[in-house]
Amino acid sequence: MIEVALVGIGKIAVDQHVPAISASRDWELAATVSRHGTVAGVTAYDDFDEMLAERPDIRVVSLCVPPVPRFSYAARAIAAGRHVMLEKPPGATLSECHALEAMAREAGVSLYATWHSRQADKVATARAWLAERSLRKLEIRWREDVRYWHPGQDWVFEAGGLGVFDPGINALSILTEILPVPVHLAEAELDFPENRETPIAARGRFRHPDGAEMGFDFDWLEPGTPVWTIEAETESGTMRLENGGGALWIDGAEAEALPGLSGEYPRLYARMAELVASGQSEVDLAPLRHVADAFLIGRRRTVAPFHW
Ligand code: NAP
Repeated sequence: MIEVALVGIGKIAVDQHVPAISASRDWELAATVSRHGTVAGVTAYDDFDEMLAERPDIRVVSLCVPPVPRFSYAARAIAAGRHVMLEKPPGATLSECHALEAMAREAGVSLYATWHSRQADKVATARAWLAERSLRKLEIRWREDVRYWHPGQDWVFEAGGLGVFDPGINALSILTEILPVPVHLAEAELDFPENRETPIAARGRFRHPDGAEMGFDFDWLEPGTPVWTIEAETESGTMRLENGGGALWIDGAEAEALPGLSGEYPRLYARMAELVASGQSEVDLAPLRHVADAFLIGRRRTVAPFHW
């Protein structure tokens, strides 16, 4: 059993981390650290440094706080010799992620920048299918209702909170997993509500080395059923990844998942157990790099104010 402390008992910790840890034979939830939340039956701390000092038995810290406060927790955990698991996005900036990587290497601990959407059931099948084909066109549509999916979470609209790129980076994490070649952003347009610090919608086009047409359309004001779709056209067939990677249609027929453990968060914890056992880290920053590029080259439009 690997003893883990969960830090930040909010939406994702309660919805996904606690059930995934509880269902695993390899993991034990040994403590929580939170200013407000607790998990029944688990020792609760409200001071992170106190938990680190009192609990040398806890070898892994899993950070479920938003991106801006995450670096400070990760740096203190690594300094205390703990392995660290980062929710997505792995940080508020690329540089702080590189700094954490260097600290983890120096301390000899494992650092895992998780991308839960890459673990969705059909992503591996889509990757295998695309690996053998020549891409002509790929379009990402990631549109959902922020009021439903992030009710009252003001941090998403504060600087460093990513705005619509908070869900959009999930699409970019799938894109960078399934494409056999790297691409880079060529242009983008970002819509900022006049009373907020992050965009509520964004569109962009990528440059593909073989000239395939590629783009994304992210929107946080989509009413009703969310659209989390990546559609690709190749010279030998079409692919439609839906439901955030949970469903896949190839040439109009539903495709099977590859065999293996089921569920995004169970897979993340299984991978973390492997990294700890092998003394390795896994920090792929490609999705965050595309977001940083969008903020660097994107044209900015001011749009109507956003209120919850
Ligand atoms: P959340 O519920 O708004 O916040 C998580 C916890 O972080 C809060 O309970 C709070 O912990 C702590 N926190 C918030 N602001 C803080 C601050 N300024 N300083 C220190 N701690 C702070 O957020 P969430 O939806 O769980 O998202 C957390 C991370 O998971 C984000 O990076 C997000 O992108 C990712 N994620 C979210 C979802 C989702 O569906 N919501 C899905 C996948 C991944 P305490 O009050 O307990 O101290």
